Amino acid sequence: MTKKLKVLMIGAHMDDNDFRGGGTALKYIKDGHSVRFLSVCNGSGGHHELSAPEVAAIRRKEADAVADLTGIEYDVWDIEDCEIIANLENRKRMVRYIRQYKPDIIFTHRTNDYHADHRNTALLVQDASYLLIVPNFCPDVAALIHTPVIMHFYDRFKNPVFNPDVIIPIDDVIDEKYEMINCHVSQVYEWLPFTNGVLDQVPTDPEERLDWLRKPLVPRDGTQLTEADLNRFIASNNSEYREATPVIKYRDKIIERYGDLAKDILFAEAFEVSEYGNPLTKENEKMLFPF
Ligand SMILES: [Zn+2]
Repeated sequence: MTKKLKVLMIGAHMDDNDFRGGGTALKYIKDGHSVRFLSVCNGSGGHHELSAPEVAAIRRKEADAVADLTGIEYDVWDIEDCEIIANLENRKRMVRYIRQYKPDIIFTHRTNDYHADHRNTALLVQDASYLLIVPNFCPDVAALIHTPVIMHFYDRFKNPVFNPDVIIPIDDVIDEKYEMINCHVSQVYEWLPFTNGVLDQVPTDPEERLDWLRKPLVPRDGTQLTEADLNRFIASNNSEYREATPVIKYRDKIIERYGDLAKDILFAEAFEVSEYGNPLTKENEKMLFPF
């Protein structure tokens, strides 16, 4: 086997890593690597009926369910939703946290994003990236020798536009990815449908609601989907079109990377290299993305 990797995904909220990198995380786990998720916020903001402490406690249990299901370690910090600030205190906390885990690769948001928590999480990682190797900053935790490679999750924002460097097909883990997302009950069946105005459409039966979450399904008959299909189907709820988005948007890059195999790929996750981490070379890309 290749080197056993330590993979760290840092999202602002408890579903961010799952949605944007969950399939890739599952592939690492299947190959015997270690994956840790950090949610910088405690989930307190994401509900229309529950109080902040109530929803934070429920979200923590949902994160634990993901950990039990997948073998991913799931850390949650105690910062309230909508209140992350990229200040010195949190910068030090982030530096110590990353140094203690010593990841080979980090995944996080980009710094341009609609949500202040996503932006500030990305900023904290960006601010930490160089300081990880500076021994006199937080001298109580040994500095790293190298900054890890840092990747950004896909997002839809256009100024500047997301430019994928690595696209990972996740067809082999798509069912498990949905099982993982299915653990975030209060988010995907309560809060998000509420904010999208479709709460009345969510079935109460657990199997029916997972089905609802996946629908509409992307066609399995070789139909080549277009961005118009994507725009038509992705708006109402998560749907499989969310998971097909990188395949539809970056088809040329997928063909370039996977050749003839590309035509069979339905689902993928896309990542962009941060220029503040270690560079992603051809050699370390093979080691860091061993699938
Ligand atoms: Zn989020």
